[in-house]
Amino acid sequence: MHTIIEPFKIKSVEPIRLTTRAEREARLRDAAYNVFLLRAEDVLIDLLTDSGTAAMSSEQWAAVMRGDESYAGSRSWYRFAHAVHDIFGFEHVLPVHQGRAAERILFSIRCRPGDVVPNNTHFDTTRANVEHAGAEAVDLVVPEGLVPSLRHPFKGNMDVARLRALIAERGRERIPLVMLTVTNNSGGGQPVSMANIREVSAVCREHGIPFYLDACRFAENAYFIKLREEGYADRSAIAIAREMFSHADGCTMSAKKDGMANIGGFLATNDAALAQQERNLLILTEGFPTYGGLAGRDLDAIATGLYEALDEDYLRYRTRSITYLGEHIAAQGVPIVQPPGGHAVYLDAAAFFPHIAPLELPGQALVAELYLEAGIRAVEIGTVMFGRRVPETDEEIAGPMELVRLAIPRRVYTQSHVDYVVEAILNIWARRESVGGYRFVEQAPFLRHFTARFAPLEAEHTEGR
Ligand SMILES: *Cc1c(COP(=O)(O)O)cnc(C)c1O
Repeated sequence: MHTIIEPFKIKSVEPIRLTTRAEREARLRDAAYNVFLLRAEDVLIDLLTDSGTAAMSSEQWAAVMRGDESYAGSRSWYRFAHAVHDIFGFEHVLPVHQGRAAERILFSIRCRPGDVVPNNTHFDTTRANVEHAGAEAVDLVVPEGLVPSLRHPFKGNMDVARLRALIAERGRERIPLVMLTVTNNSGGGQPVSMANIREVSAVCREHGIPFYLDACRFAENAYFIKLREEGYADRSAIAIAREMFSHADGCTMSAKKDGMANIGGFLATNDAALAQQERNLLILTEGFPTYGGLAGRDLDAIATGLYEALDEDYLRYRTRSITYLGEHIAAQGVPIVQPPGGHAVYLDAAAFFPHIAPLELPGQALVAELYLEAGIRAVEIGTVMFGRRVPETDEEIAGPMELVRLAIPRRVYTQSHVDYVVEAILNIWARRESVGGYRFVEQAPFLRHFTARFAPLEAEHTEGR
């Protein structure tokens, strides 16, 4: 059989509410055209993020009921630790409430002011935690990773020549660790090859620098290696994952991604002395080392979810449904980041709306249109998120790219939902020339995308046309 289907049937359903265009216009106006300010119940298909939005399986819900809420040494902790050891292989594991807590503990111990941490591309919380510790976060993704339309099987790879140059320039004692993000979330959800993991690991070992994986989407990355890298077609996803981690000295993990859980994460290492320091900090802010920031039931849900994320029927469906969305819109000319990533499709809003200048916020315009057209919520990753206003002059500076991310929650939506999203995008594509830009009405000095208020330029612009 060639048809790829959802490898599950649905036991519990959550209604989503269809709204009229008039209702959506009113809701979006009330939210000052910022979809973060909408009520979730007014959204039909929510593609804001794949973080913490997965549907748990019946086995995970059963695991929740098995959760042991003992303060210390609970059975849930042993099941969780066993799963992490089995898949990731590290000797020491610390449970945390989500990925950024692992980052804060790791970087606050390892980094000193003046240090530099290389990554393929730092995720925003990773960068913030490196910088908060006084260190510099440097992105060393391969040049292919920065060209949206360019096809390459492993656009998340690190540029090893630049890594070597950085080590030579700054000295290995100024580099407390090197990190690779698998898949590379901020770089379009693009995978890293095993060859690149091996090579970066070898450079780190040669210089005595610890090598970490930001493991949030480790299962999706393992599956891309199976599909795209020579020699891995016949290996199981779990065997590939184990090999990935065998090259590393530790990892940070958000179980809200490939943990298939709604909350949770962990920090892992093979370094006993470091683990002891980390545990001391863990107790200070997260909790006792056998539960961290989590309830026993959360630990059990993650222990089960980590294996489900590696199920190859699931991974085939997951990567296929995202590719399906990308292919169907790209076939009609819609510009996207190629190839589609492991968790999301990224629309190139600058190419979608060439008549809207970056400072007229083409990504914001596309996000607003997706909601108005069909009740779909996406997120702008462009000038709103990464541009800025210079406080002294009020000058607006554009972001490096104008992308809109459609992140797909795990196991939540079916193919007809995806078909609906395709139709909505193609409807907007057909009338793209009539869509106008936006301007800021209000903005915060940092992380402005969460709370900014906007107004459409259209009324102001087009009246005179
Ligand atoms: C989500 C994410 C994090 C942070 O995890 P949280 O659970 O949101 O704190 C770190 N790195 C990457 C690549 C992520 O996608």
